[in-house]
Amino acid sequence: MKNLQKLFAHIAGFAHFADFAGLADFVNFAGIINFLFPGNCALCGGSLLDKKEIRYSLCHGCQSSIGINEQRICGLCGKPLSSEIDTCLPCRNRDGEAAFQRLWLLFPYIGKYRKLLTEYKFRKNLYLAVFFAKMIINLIGKEPLLKDAVIVPVPPRPGKIKHTGWDQIEHLVNVMRKNNNKMVICWCLKRKRSKVQKELSRAERLKNLKGRIYLRSAPPKIALVIDDVYTTGSTMEVCSQVLKEGGAEKVYGLCLFYD
Ligand SMILES: [Zn+2]
Ligand SMILES: [Zn+2]
Repeated sequence: MKNLQKLFAHIAGFAHFADFAGLADFVNFAGIINFLFPGNCALCGGSLLDKKEIRYSLCHGCQSSIGINEQRICGLCGKPLSSEIDTCLPCRNRDGEAAFQRLWLLFPYIGKYRKLLTEYKFRKNLYLAVFFAKMIINLIGKEPLLKDAVIVPVPPRPGKIKHTGWDQIEHLVNVMRKNNNKMVICWCLKRKRSKVQKELSRAERLKNLKGRIYLRSAPPKIALVIDDVYTTGSTMEVCSQVLKEGGAEKVYGLCLFYD
């Protein structure tokens, strides 16, 4: 009987997910396997028992343990603050003004949060995009600054989709759009081939990216740039510069994880 209940919950979750994410998003074998067999909680490995668990690939316990940082955050980069001042030390010491107005960074890239990203980005657990989308939509809904913002996804490196089979940012924003039909997405940024960023310093990354991220269409007046991981901030900086130079008046940024 319990197994039968599980099967029905699975089918309900399956139908719900297909509605949210669209079959066309399942671009490779790993994605298809995750889609057909959501199986266990992406974090604790426990069985998923009802459609609210299957929808996000997370058990209720893990869902409630993952919260957006409620600490005071830096008014520019969005990292948690350790002092009474409203801007963090690196932001106060930065060279020149940031091209973006401010950022929101959802989860630290450590512990269980790191596992969340690995499960999504590298193991292609596409259900997690539905969970991330819910969190981002909640945040946008609560933040007056983002009321009229148009979503601008950070563009993937050329060849990335050919190489890995998908673009996790593209998938995430498409799920966000399916979950909120008022949301507008502008695919105005594109990226030319450049060196892999991983091993480079912030200054080298900025130099490497300058001129390689460009506009292929007019940017929105108010943009919210979406990326998965914030490390040195150079990708966000260059995307914001390009959008501003192209005519955007305000650029905000949101990254799922920060290092
Ligand atoms: Zn769990
Ligand atoms: Zn800061």
